[in-house]
Amino acid sequence: MKRYDCIIIGSGLGGLQCAYILARSGRKVCVLEQGEQIGGALQTFRRGKSVFDTGFHYVGGLDHGQPLNKLFDYFDLLDLPWHRLDDNCFDEIIIDGKSYKYAMGYDNFAKVISSYFPHHSEKLHIYTEFLKEVNENIFTSLQREDSSELYESKLFTCSAYDYLNELFDGDPEIINVLSGASLKFEADIKTLPLYVFAQINSSYISSSWRLKGGGMKIALKLAESVKLMGGEIITNAEVTEIAEGDKGVEYVKVNTGEKYYADNFISDIHPAATLSLINESRYIRKIYRKRITSLENSFGMFTANIRLKKDMLKYRNNNIYIYSNIPVWQINDSLERNEINGVLISYSLDDSDNGFASAIDILTPVRCNDFESWKESKVMRRGADYETYKREMADMMIDFVGRYMPELKTCVDKVYTSTPLTYRDYTSTYMGSAYGIKKDCNNLMQTMLTPRTPIPNLFMTGQNLNLHGILGVSMTSVVTCKSMGIDINLK
Ligand SMILES: Cc1cc2nc3c(=O)[nH]c(=O)nc-3n(C[C@H](O)[C@H](O)[C@H](O)COP(=O)(O)OP(=O)(O)OC[C@H]3O[C@@H](n4cnc5c(N)ncnc54)[C@H](O)[C@@H]3O)c2cc1C
Repeated sequence: MKRYDCIIIGSGLGGLQCAYILARSGRKVCVLEQGEQIGGALQTFRRGKSVFDTGFHYVGGLDHGQPLNKLFDYFDLLDLPWHRLDDNCFDEIIIDGKSYKYAMGYDNFAKVISSYFPHHSEKLHIYTEFLKEVNENIFTSLQREDSSELYESKLFTCSAYDYLNELFDGDPEIINVLSGASLKFEADIKTLPLYVFAQINSSYISSSWRLKGGGMKIALKLAESVKLMGGEIITNAEVTEIAEGDKGVEYVKVNTGEKYYADNFISDIHPAATLSLINESRYIRKIYRKRITSLENSFGMFTANIRLKKDMLKYRNNNIYIYSNIPVWQINDSLERNEINGVLISYSLDDSDNGFASAIDILTPVRCNDFESWKESKVMRRGADYETYKREMADMMIDFVGRYMPELKTCVDKVYTSTPLTYRDYTSTYMGSAYGIKKDCNNLMQTMLTPRTPIPNLFMTGQNLNLHGILGVSMTSVVTCKSMGIDINLK
Protein backbone atom coordinates (compact mmCIF):
# COMPACT_ATOMS: atom_id res chain seq x y z
CA MET A 1 0.00 0.00 0.00
CA LYS A 2 1.32 3.44 -0.93
CA ARG A 3 0.94 6.09 1.77
CA TYR A 4 1.96 9.76 1.66
CA ASP A 5 1.58 12.89 3.76
CA CYS A 6 -0.20 14.51 0.85
CA ILE A 7 -1.56 13.44 -2.52
CA ILE A 8 -2.08 16.14 -5.13
CA ILE A 9 -4.52 15.62 -7.97
CA GLY A 10 -3.29 17.33 -11.15
CA SER A 11 0.13 18.65 -12.15
CA GLY A 12 -0.90 22.08 -13.40
CA LEU A 13 0.99 25.06 -12.02
CA GLY A 14 -1.07 24.98 -8.80
CA GLY A 15 -0.51 21.26 -8.19
CA LEU A 16 3.24 21.45 -8.81
CA GLN A 17 3.64 24.53 -6.62
CA CYS A 18 1.74 22.93 -3.73
CA ALA A 19 3.95 19.84 -4.15
CA TYR A 20 7.02 22.10 -4.03
CA ILE A 21 5.87 23.90 -0.86
CA LEU A 22 5.00 20.66 0.93
CA ALA A 23 8.17 18.82 -0.15
CA ARG A 24 10.24 21.84 0.93
CA SER A 25 8.62 21.66 4.35
CA GLY A 26 9.61 18.00 4.64
CA ARG A 27 6.30 16.36 3.66
CA LYS A 28 6.16 13.20 1.59
CA VAL A 29 4.15 14.19 -1.48
CA CYS A 30 2.89 12.54 -4.62
CA VAL A 31 1.33 14.30 -7.63
CA LEU A 32 -1.03 12.24 -9.78
CA GLU A 33 -1.44 13.53 -13.33
CA GLN A 34 -3.88 12.05 -15.81
CA GLY A 35 -2.02 13.27 -18.89
CA GLU A 36 1.09 11.91 -20.51
CA GLN A 37 2.74 15.26 -19.83
CA ILE A 38 2.79 17.39 -16.72
CA GLY A 39 1.98 21.11 -16.68
CA GLY A 40 -1.72 21.38 -17.62
CA ALA A 41 -2.16 24.77 -19.30
CA LEU A 42 1.60 25.34 -19.22
CA GLN A 43 2.21 22.67 -21.84
CA THR A 44 3.94 23.56 -25.06
CA PHE A 45 3.89 21.65 -28.34
CA ARG A 46 6.35 21.47 -31.18
CA ARG A 47 5.60 21.62 -34.92
CA GLY A 48 8.81 21.37 -36.93
CA LYS A 49 11.28 23.75 -35.38
CA SER A 50 8.59 25.93 -33.79
CA VAL A 51 7.53 25.60 -30.17
CA PHE A 52 4.02 26.85 -29.37
CA ASP A 53 2.50 27.63 -26.01
CA THR A 54 -1.00 26.51 -25.10
CA GLY A 55 -2.05 28.58 -22.06
CA PHE A 56 0.86 30.88 -21.39
CA HIS A 57 2.19 33.98 -23.16
CA TYR A 58 3.54 36.47 -20.67
CA VAL A 59 3.65 37.25 -16.97
CA GLY A 60 3.60 40.44 -14.93
CA GLY A 61 5.30 41.55 -11.72
CA LEU A 62 8.61 39.74 -12.03
CA ASP A 63 10.90 42.67 -11.33
CA HIS A 64 12.86 42.78 -8.10
CA GLY A 65 10.55 43.30 -5.08
CA GLN A 66 7.37 42.70 -7.09
CA PRO A 67 4.87 39.97 -6.09
CA LEU A 68 5.71 37.35 -8.74
CA ASN A 69 9.43 37.89 -8.14
CA LYS A 70 9.01 37.06 -4.44
CA LEU A 71 6.97 33.98 -5.28
CA PHE A 72 9.26 32.75 -8.07
CA ASP A 73 12.28 33.35 -5.85
CA TYR A 74 10.69 30.99 -3.32
CA PHE A 75 9.84 28.47 -6.07
CA ASP A 76 13.37 28.75 -7.50
CA LEU A 77 12.04 29.85 -10.89
CA LEU A 78 13.96 33.09 -11.35
CA ASP A 79 16.82 31.42 -13.23
CA LEU A 80 14.62 30.51 -16.19
CA PRO A 81 15.31 32.52 -19.38
CA TRP A 82 12.89 35.38 -18.60
CA HIS A 83 12.87 38.14 -21.17
CA ARG A 84 11.66 41.64 -20.33
CA LEU A 85 9.27 43.20 -22.83
CA ASP A 86 9.74 46.70 -24.23
CA ASP A 87 9.63 49.29 -21.42
CA ASN A 88 8.12 51.89 -23.74
CA CYS A 89 5.46 49.56 -25.12
CA PHE A 90 4.87 46.12 -23.63
CA ASP A 91 1.30 46.02 -25.00
CA GLU A 92 0.08 47.88 -28.05
CA ILE A 93 -3.68 48.41 -28.05
CA ILE A 94 -5.30 49.04 -31.42
CA ILE A 95 -8.96 50.07 -31.27
CA ASP A 96 -10.84 50.75 -34.48
CA GLY A 97 -7.54 51.43 -36.24
CA LYS A 98 -6.11 53.81 -33.62
CA SER A 99 -3.00 52.71 -31.74
CA TYR A 100 -2.20 53.28 -28.04
CA LYS A 101 0.89 52.17 -26.16
CA TYR A 102 1.06 50.68 -22.66
CA ALA A 103 4.40 51.68 -21.14
CA MET A 104 5.96 49.82 -18.22
CA GLY A 105 6.02 51.35 -14.73
CA TYR A 106 3.10 53.18 -13.15
CA ASP A 107 4.36 56.74 -13.79
CA ASN A 108 5.44 55.92 -17.31
CA PHE A 109 2.10 54.28 -18.03
CA ALA A 110 0.18 57.34 -16.76
CA LYS A 111 2.46 59.69 -18.73
CA VAL A 112 2.01 57.88 -22.06
CA ILE A 113 -1.76 57.42 -21.69
CA SER A 114 -2.02 61.09 -20.65
CA SER A 115 -0.45 62.05 -23.97
CA TYR A 116 -3.60 60.65 -25.68
CA PHE A 117 -5.95 62.05 -23.04
CA PRO A 118 -4.35 65.21 -21.58
CA HIS A 119 -7.64 66.23 -19.96
CA HIS A 120 -7.62 63.00 -17.89
CA SER A 121 -4.03 63.25 -16.72
CA GLU A 122 -4.86 63.85 -13.04
CA LYS A 123 -7.31 60.98 -12.98
CA LEU A 124 -4.78 58.73 -14.67
CA HIS A 125 -2.44 59.36 -11.75
CA ILE A 126 -5.21 58.45 -9.31
CA TYR A 127 -5.79 55.31 -11.39
CA THR A 128 -2.15 54.19 -11.43
CA GLU A 129 -1.72 54.97 -7.71
CA PHE A 130 -4.73 52.75 -7.09
CA LEU A 131 -3.27 49.94 -9.24
CA LYS A 132 0.04 50.22 -7.43
CA GLU A 133 -1.64 49.88 -4.06
CA VAL A 134 -3.60 46.86 -5.26
CA ASN A 135 -0.42 45.16 -6.47
CA GLU A 136 1.28 45.78 -3.13
CA ASN A 137 -1.62 44.57 -0.99
CA ILE A 138 -3.67 41.97 -2.82
CA PHE A 139 -1.62 39.05 -1.56
CA THR A 140 -2.16 40.12 2.05
CA SER A 141 -5.90 40.42 1.35
CA LEU A 142 -6.08 36.93 -0.10
CA GLN A 143 -4.24 35.46 2.87
CA ARG A 144 -6.60 36.93 5.47
CA GLU A 145 -7.91 34.39 7.93
CA ASP A 146 -11.20 36.22 8.23
CA SER A 147 -12.57 36.67 4.73
CA SER A 148 -15.70 38.57 5.81
CA GLU A 149 -13.84 41.90 5.58
CA LEU A 150 -12.81 40.99 2.07
CA TYR A 151 -16.36 40.47 0.95
CA GLU A 152 -17.24 43.97 2.09
CA SER A 153 -14.37 45.93 0.54
CA LYS A 154 -14.94 47.92 -2.66
CA LEU A 155 -12.08 46.18 -4.42
CA PHE A 156 -14.01 42.93 -4.27
CA THR A 157 -17.62 44.04 -4.43
CA CYS A 158 -17.44 46.80 -7.04
CA SER A 159 -17.54 45.95 -10.73
CA ALA A 160 -14.42 46.95 -12.67
CA TYR A 161 -16.54 48.65 -15.30
CA ASP A 162 -18.42 50.75 -12.71
CA TYR A 163 -15.11 51.84 -11.19
CA LEU A 164 -13.72 52.99 -14.56
CA ASN A 165 -16.98 54.59 -15.55
CA GLU A 166 -17.14 56.61 -12.35
CA LEU A 167 -13.48 57.65 -12.31
CA PHE A 168 -13.40 58.73 -15.96
CA ASP A 169 -16.89 60.29 -16.03
CA GLY A 170 -18.16 57.71 -18.49
CA ASP A 171 -15.69 58.70 -21.24
CA PRO A 172 -15.95 55.63 -23.53
CA GLU A 173 -12.62 56.16 -25.31
CA ILE A 174 -10.38 56.14 -22.26
CA ILE A 175 -12.39 53.32 -20.67
CA ASN A 176 -11.81 51.28 -23.83
CA VAL A 177 -8.10 52.05 -23.88
CA LEU A 178 -7.55 51.22 -20.20
CA SER A 179 -9.45 47.96 -20.74
CA GLY A 180 -7.47 47.14 -23.88
CA ALA A 181 -5.64 44.11 -22.44
CA SER A 182 -8.91 42.57 -21.31
CA LEU A 183 -8.65 39.31 -23.25
CA LYS A 184 -6.57 38.09 -20.29
CA PHE A 185 -9.88 37.80 -18.42
CA GLU A 186 -13.55 37.89 -19.29
CA ALA A 187 -14.54 41.55 -19.29
CA ASP A 188 -18.15 41.15 -18.28
CA ILE A 189 -19.64 44.59 -17.70
CA LYS A 190 -21.94 43.46 -14.87
CA THR A 191 -19.89 40.89 -13.02
CA LEU A 192 -16.11 41.34 -13.33
CA PRO A 193 -14.88 42.27 -9.83
CA LEU A 194 -12.53 45.23 -9.62
CA TYR A 195 -9.83 43.10 -7.96
CA VAL A 196 -9.49 40.79 -10.99
CA PHE A 197 -9.19 43.71 -13.41
CA ALA A 198 -6.91 45.77 -11.16
CA GLN A 199 -4.64 42.96 -10.05
CA ILE A 200 -4.03 41.57 -13.53
CA ASN A 201 -3.53 44.96 -15.20
CA SER A 202 -1.40 46.24 -12.36
CA SER A 203 1.03 43.34 -12.34
CA TYR A 204 1.70 43.69 -16.09
CA ILE A 205 2.11 47.47 -15.86
CA SER A 206 4.63 46.97 -13.03
CA SER A 207 6.74 44.80 -15.40
CA SER A 208 6.01 42.35 -18.23
CA TRP A 209 8.02 39.28 -19.30
CA ARG A 210 8.10 36.49 -21.86
CA LEU A 211 9.79 33.17 -21.26
CA LYS A 212 12.18 31.93 -23.91
CA GLY A 213 11.19 28.37 -24.86
CA GLY A 214 7.64 28.58 -23.43
CA GLY A 215 5.67 27.93 -20.26
CA MET A 216 6.53 24.23 -20.01
CA LYS A 217 9.93 25.30 -18.64
CA ILE A 218 8.12 26.44 -15.47
CA ALA A 219 6.48 23.03 -15.05
CA LEU A 220 9.68 21.08 -15.75
CA LYS A 221 11.73 23.14 -13.30
CA LEU A 222 9.13 22.77 -10.54
CA ALA A 223 8.89 19.02 -11.18
CA GLU A 224 12.67 18.66 -11.05
CA SER A 225 12.79 20.50 -7.70
CA VAL A 226 9.94 18.43 -6.25
CA LYS A 227 11.72 15.21 -7.21
CA LEU A 228 15.04 16.44 -5.80
CA MET A 229 13.25 17.05 -2.50
CA GLY A 230 11.94 13.47 -2.50
CA GLY A 231 8.49 14.03 -4.03
CA GLU A 232 6.92 11.77 -6.64
CA ILE A 233 5.11 12.78 -9.82
CA ILE A 234 3.21 10.07 -11.65
CA THR A 235 1.82 10.71 -15.14
CA ASN A 236 -0.88 8.69 -16.95
CA ALA A 237 -2.55 8.39 -13.56
CA GLU A 238 -6.07 9.70 -13.85
CA VAL A 239 -7.80 9.93 -10.50
CA THR A 240 -11.18 8.26 -10.97
CA GLU A 241 -12.39 8.24 -7.37
CA ILE A 242 -11.86 10.15 -4.16
CA ALA A 243 -12.87 7.72 -1.42
CA GLU A 244 -13.89 8.71 2.10
CA GLY A 245 -13.11 6.85 5.30
CA ASP A 246 -14.01 7.68 8.91
CA LYS A 247 -12.10 10.94 9.20
CA GLY A 248 -12.25 12.30 5.69
CA VAL A 249 -10.67 11.21 2.42
CA GLU A 250 -8.87 7.91 2.88
CA TYR A 251 -7.47 7.28 -0.57
CA VAL A 252 -7.76 8.15 -4.23
CA LYS A 253 -8.08 5.51 -6.93
CA VAL A 254 -6.50 5.90 -10.36
CA ASN A 255 -7.43 4.48 -13.77
CA THR A 256 -5.18 1.45 -13.29
CA GLY A 257 -7.17 0.52 -10.18
CA GLU A 258 -4.28 1.41 -7.85
CA LYS A 259 -5.12 3.20 -4.59
CA TYR A 260 -3.03 6.01 -3.10
CA TYR A 261 -3.42 6.73 0.62
CA ALA A 262 -2.49 9.96 2.40
CA ASP A 263 -3.24 12.14 5.42
CA ASN A 264 -4.18 15.11 3.26
CA PHE A 265 -5.31 15.62 -0.33
CA ILE A 266 -5.16 18.68 -2.58
CA SER A 267 -7.12 18.96 -5.80
CA ASP A 268 -5.69 21.19 -8.54
CA ILE A 269 -8.56 20.36 -10.86
CA HIS A 270 -11.82 22.23 -11.32
CA PRO A 271 -13.95 22.07 -8.13
CA ALA A 272 -16.91 20.60 -10.06
CA ALA A 273 -14.62 17.90 -11.51
CA THR A 274 -13.31 17.24 -7.99
CA LEU A 275 -16.84 16.70 -6.68
CA SER A 276 -17.66 14.37 -9.57
CA LEU A 277 -14.96 12.03 -8.23
CA ILE A 278 -16.64 11.78 -4.80
CA ASN A 279 -19.52 9.34 -4.97
CA GLU A 280 -20.63 8.96 -1.41
CA SER A 281 -19.88 11.49 1.26
CA ARG A 282 -21.08 12.30 4.68
CA TYR A 283 -19.48 15.72 4.49
CA ILE A 284 -20.63 17.01 1.11
CA ARG A 285 -24.23 18.14 1.09
CA LYS A 286 -26.39 18.19 -2.02
CA ILE A 287 -26.68 21.96 -1.79
CA TYR A 288 -22.88 22.40 -1.84
CA ARG A 289 -22.61 20.09 -4.84
CA LYS A 290 -25.37 22.00 -6.63
CA ARG A 291 -23.74 25.34 -5.85
CA ILE A 292 -20.32 24.34 -7.15
CA THR A 293 -21.53 22.52 -10.25
CA SER A 294 -23.79 25.37 -11.30
CA LEU A 295 -21.08 28.06 -11.23
CA GLU A 296 -20.47 29.74 -14.57
CA ASN A 297 -17.10 29.38 -16.29
CA SER A 298 -15.23 31.86 -18.46
CA PHE A 299 -15.16 31.84 -22.23
CA GLY A 300 -12.75 29.60 -24.13
CA MET A 301 -10.13 30.58 -26.66
CA PHE A 302 -9.72 29.89 -30.34
CA THR A 303 -6.02 30.00 -31.10
CA ALA A 304 -4.23 30.16 -34.42
CA ASN A 305 -0.61 29.12 -33.90
CA ILE A 306 1.17 30.43 -36.96
CA ARG A 307 4.54 29.21 -38.19
CA LEU A 308 6.16 32.01 -40.15
CA LYS A 309 8.35 31.90 -43.23
CA LYS A 310 11.98 32.28 -42.33
CA ASP A 311 13.24 35.79 -41.63
CA MET A 312 10.16 37.54 -42.98
CA LEU A 313 8.25 39.04 -40.02
CA LYS A 314 10.16 41.28 -37.61
CA TYR A 315 10.08 40.08 -33.99
CA ARG A 316 8.21 42.53 -31.78
CA ASN A 317 9.05 42.75 -28.14
CA ASN A 318 5.47 43.48 -27.18
CA ASN A 319 1.99 42.00 -27.48
CA ILE A 320 -0.67 43.50 -29.70
CA TYR A 321 -4.36 43.62 -28.85
CA ILE A 322 -6.58 44.55 -31.79
CA TYR A 323 -10.27 45.44 -31.52
CA SER A 324 -12.84 46.37 -34.13
CA ASN A 325 -15.18 49.29 -33.50
CA ILE A 326 -17.12 47.32 -30.88
CA PRO A 327 -16.44 48.58 -27.32
CA VAL A 328 -14.03 46.30 -25.45
CA TRP A 329 -16.65 45.67 -22.75
CA GLN A 330 -19.10 44.38 -25.36
CA ILE A 331 -16.77 41.81 -26.89
CA ASN A 332 -18.52 39.14 -24.81
CA ASP A 333 -21.88 39.87 -26.42
CA SER A 334 -20.38 39.85 -29.88
CA LEU A 335 -19.18 36.26 -29.41
CA GLU A 336 -22.66 35.00 -30.15
CA ARG A 337 -22.52 36.44 -33.61
CA ASN A 338 -19.47 34.35 -34.41
CA GLU A 339 -17.54 37.40 -35.51
CA ILE A 340 -14.01 38.40 -34.70
CA ASN A 341 -13.93 41.64 -32.78
CA GLY A 342 -10.87 41.29 -30.61
CA VAL A 343 -7.57 39.37 -30.79
CA LEU A 344 -4.36 39.07 -28.87
CA ILE A 345 -1.15 38.57 -30.87
CA SER A 346 1.80 37.10 -29.03
CA TYR A 347 5.26 36.63 -30.56
CA SER A 348 7.23 33.47 -29.72
CA LEU A 349 10.69 34.01 -28.37
CA ASP A 350 13.18 31.46 -29.66
CA ASP A 351 16.96 31.06 -29.63
CA SER A 352 17.74 32.57 -33.02
CA ASP A 353 17.82 36.20 -31.76
CA ASN A 354 18.17 37.45 -35.35
CA GLY A 355 15.45 40.09 -35.10
CA PHE A 356 12.83 37.97 -36.89
CA ALA A 357 9.94 35.99 -35.43
CA SER A 358 9.60 32.30 -36.25
CA ALA A 359 6.05 31.98 -34.88
CA ILE A 360 3.14 33.98 -33.51
CA ASP A 361 -0.08 33.05 -31.73
CA ILE A 362 -3.35 34.83 -32.41
CA LEU A 363 -6.07 34.28 -29.81
CA THR A 364 -9.71 35.25 -29.82
CA PRO A 365 -12.38 34.41 -27.23
CA VAL A 366 -15.16 31.98 -28.17
CA ARG A 367 -18.12 30.56 -26.31
CA CYS A 368 -17.57 26.99 -25.15
CA ASN A 369 -21.27 26.24 -25.78
CA ASP A 370 -20.77 26.79 -29.50
CA PHE A 371 -18.85 23.49 -29.53
CA GLU A 372 -21.69 21.41 -28.04
CA SER A 373 -22.34 19.51 -31.25
CA TRP A 374 -18.75 18.18 -31.30
CA LYS A 375 -18.37 17.63 -27.57
CA GLU A 376 -18.56 13.82 -27.68
CA SER A 377 -15.97 13.65 -30.47
CA LYS A 378 -12.35 12.65 -30.03
CA VAL A 379 -9.18 14.45 -31.14
CA MET A 380 -8.53 14.19 -34.92
CA ARG A 381 -11.96 12.59 -35.38
CA ARG A 382 -14.34 15.48 -35.08
CA GLY A 383 -15.52 15.46 -38.69
CA ALA A 384 -15.36 17.62 -41.79
CA ASP A 385 -17.65 20.39 -40.51
CA TYR A 386 -15.32 20.96 -37.54
CA GLU A 387 -12.28 21.14 -39.81
CA THR A 388 -14.12 23.62 -42.06
CA TYR A 389 -15.08 25.73 -39.04
CA LYS A 390 -11.46 25.83 -37.86
CA ARG A 391 -10.13 26.77 -41.27
CA GLU A 392 -12.70 29.53 -41.69
CA MET A 393 -12.00 30.92 -38.22
CA ALA A 394 -8.25 30.95 -38.87
CA ASP A 395 -8.77 32.72 -42.21
CA MET A 396 -11.05 35.27 -40.56
CA MET A 397 -8.45 35.92 -37.86
CA ILE A 398 -5.63 36.38 -40.34
CA ASP A 399 -7.84 38.73 -42.38
CA PHE A 400 -8.77 40.67 -39.25
CA VAL A 401 -5.14 41.06 -38.18
CA GLY A 402 -4.12 41.73 -41.79
CA ARG A 403 -6.16 44.93 -41.78
CA TYR A 404 -3.75 46.37 -39.22
CA MET A 405 -0.64 44.36 -40.10
CA PRO A 406 -0.80 43.94 -43.89
CA GLU A 407 2.65 42.32 -43.93
CA LEU A 408 1.39 39.27 -41.99
CA LYS A 409 -0.38 37.42 -44.83
CA THR A 410 2.71 36.96 -46.98
CA CYS A 411 4.70 35.70 -43.97
CA VAL A 412 2.39 32.81 -43.01
CA ASP A 413 3.96 29.41 -43.62
CA LYS A 414 1.59 27.05 -41.74
CA VAL A 415 -1.39 27.50 -39.41
CA TYR A 416 -2.33 25.16 -36.54
CA THR A 417 -5.56 25.79 -34.67
CA SER A 418 -7.02 24.98 -31.26
CA THR A 419 -10.58 25.32 -30.00
CA PRO A 420 -11.92 24.90 -26.46
CA LEU A 421 -12.25 21.19 -27.28
CA THR A 422 -8.54 20.99 -28.07
CA TYR A 423 -7.78 22.61 -24.70
CA ARG A 424 -10.23 20.24 -23.00
CA ASP A 425 -8.66 17.15 -24.57
CA TYR A 426 -4.95 18.05 -24.54
CA THR A 427 -4.46 20.21 -21.46
CA SER A 428 -7.64 19.09 -19.63
CA THR A 429 -8.94 22.63 -19.32
CA TYR A 430 -12.35 22.12 -17.68
CA MET A 431 -15.04 22.13 -20.42
CA GLY A 432 -12.59 24.17 -22.53
CA SER A 433 -13.04 27.30 -20.39
CA ALA A 434 -9.85 29.37 -20.52
CA TYR A 435 -9.89 30.93 -17.05
CA GLY A 436 -12.19 28.67 -15.01
CA ILE A 437 -14.89 29.84 -12.62
CA LYS A 438 -16.12 33.35 -13.41
CA LYS A 439 -15.84 35.63 -10.43
CA ASP A 440 -18.92 37.78 -9.83
CA CYS A 441 -18.73 40.94 -7.74
CA ASN A 442 -22.45 40.66 -7.00
CA ASN A 443 -22.00 37.15 -5.69
CA LEU A 444 -18.47 37.04 -4.41
CA MET A 445 -18.93 34.60 -1.54
CA GLN A 446 -20.26 32.02 -3.98
CA THR A 447 -17.75 32.51 -6.79
CA MET A 448 -14.50 33.12 -4.91
CA LEU A 449 -13.71 29.80 -3.27
CA THR A 450 -11.52 29.07 -0.27
CA PRO A 451 -9.07 26.13 -0.33
CA ARG A 452 -11.02 24.34 2.40
CA THR A 453 -13.79 21.94 1.40
CA PRO A 454 -16.44 20.40 3.66
CA ILE A 455 -14.17 17.32 3.90
CA PRO A 456 -11.58 18.16 6.59
CA ASN A 457 -8.51 16.74 4.83
CA LEU A 458 -9.42 17.68 1.24
CA PHE A 459 -8.17 21.06 -0.02
CA MET A 460 -8.38 22.82 -3.36
CA THR A 461 -5.96 25.00 -5.28
CA GLY A 462 -5.47 26.38 -8.81
CA GLN A 463 -7.01 29.03 -10.99
CA ASN A 464 -10.62 28.41 -10.01
CA LEU A 465 -10.34 29.66 -6.43
CA ASN A 466 -9.23 33.31 -6.26
CA LEU A 467 -7.59 34.46 -9.45
CA HIS A 468 -6.45 32.80 -12.67
CA GLY A 469 -3.11 33.32 -14.41
CA ILE A 470 0.42 32.52 -13.35
CA LEU A 471 0.48 35.13 -10.57
CA GLY A 472 -3.04 34.30 -9.35
CA VAL A 473 -2.36 30.56 -9.24
CA SER A 474 1.02 31.08 -7.51
CA MET A 475 -0.59 33.21 -4.79
CA THR A 476 -3.34 30.63 -4.36
CA SER A 477 -0.82 27.78 -3.96
CA VAL A 478 0.63 29.62 -0.97
CA VAL A 479 -2.85 30.32 0.43
CA THR A 480 -3.79 26.63 0.06
CA CYS A 481 -0.67 25.35 1.84
CA LYS A 482 -1.00 27.98 4.58
CA SER A 483 -4.56 26.83 5.20
CA MET A 484 -3.08 23.35 5.80
CA GLY A 485 -0.88 24.84 8.52
CA ILE A 486 2.35 25.01 6.51
CA ASP A 487 4.68 27.88 7.39
CA ILE A 488 5.92 29.69 4.27
CA ASN A 489 8.43 32.50 4.39
CA LEU A 490 8.51 34.64 1.28
CA LYS A 491 11.41 37.11 1.34
C1 LIG B 1 -5.33 30.20 -23.97
C2 LIG B 1 -4.82 30.59 -22.61
C3 LIG B 1 -3.84 31.57 -22.51
C4 LIG B 1 -3.34 31.94 -21.25
N1 LIG B 1 -2.35 32.89 -21.18
C5 LIG B 1 -1.84 33.22 -19.98
C6 LIG B 1 -0.78 34.16 -19.89
O1 LIG B 1 -0.26 34.67 -20.89
N2 LIG B 1 -0.32 34.51 -18.65
C7 LIG B 1 -0.87 33.98 -17.50
O2 LIG B 1 -0.43 34.36 -16.40
N3 LIG B 1 -1.85 33.05 -17.57
C8 LIG B 1 -2.36 32.66 -18.77
N4 LIG B 1 -3.34 31.72 -18.84
C9 LIG B 1 -3.90 31.16 -17.59
C10 LIG B 1 -2.97 30.12 -16.94
O3 LIG B 1 -2.41 29.28 -17.91
C11 LIG B 1 -3.77 29.28 -15.92
O4 LIG B 1 -4.44 30.14 -15.03
C12 LIG B 1 -2.93 28.29 -15.11
O5 LIG B 1 -1.93 27.66 -15.86
C13 LIG B 1 -3.88 27.25 -14.51
O6 LIG B 1 -3.16 26.35 -13.68
P1 LIG B 1 -3.93 25.32 -12.74
O7 LIG B 1 -2.91 24.66 -11.88
O8 LIG B 1 -5.05 26.01 -12.05
O9 LIG B 1 -4.69 24.27 -13.66
P2 LIG B 1 -4.37 23.42 -14.97
O10 LIG B 1 -3.24 23.97 -15.72
O11 LIG B 1 -5.68 23.29 -15.66
O12 LIG B 1 -3.93 21.98 -14.41
C14 LIG B 1 -4.82 20.98 -14.00
C15 LIG B 1 -4.12 19.62 -14.20
O13 LIG B 1 -4.96 18.59 -13.63
C16 LIG B 1 -4.90 17.45 -14.49
N5 LIG B 1 -6.11 16.65 -14.23
C17 LIG B 1 -7.40 16.95 -14.53
N6 LIG B 1 -8.21 15.96 -14.10
C18 LIG B 1 -7.42 15.01 -13.52
C19 LIG B 1 -7.68 13.76 -12.88
N7 LIG B 1 -8.92 13.27 -12.75
N8 LIG B 1 -6.63 13.04 -12.39
C20 LIG B 1 -5.35 13.53 -12.50
N9 LIG B 1 -5.06 14.70 -13.10
C21 LIG B 1 -6.08 15.45 -13.60
C22 LIG B 1 -4.87 18.07 -15.89
O14 LIG B 1 -4.41 17.13 -16.84
C23 LIG B 1 -3.92 19.26 -15.66
O15 LIG B 1 -2.58 18.86 -15.86
C24 LIG B 1 -3.85 31.31 -20.08
C25 LIG B 1 -4.81 30.30 -20.19
C26 LIG B 1 -5.29 29.93 -21.44
C27 LIG B 1 -6.29 28.81 -21.53
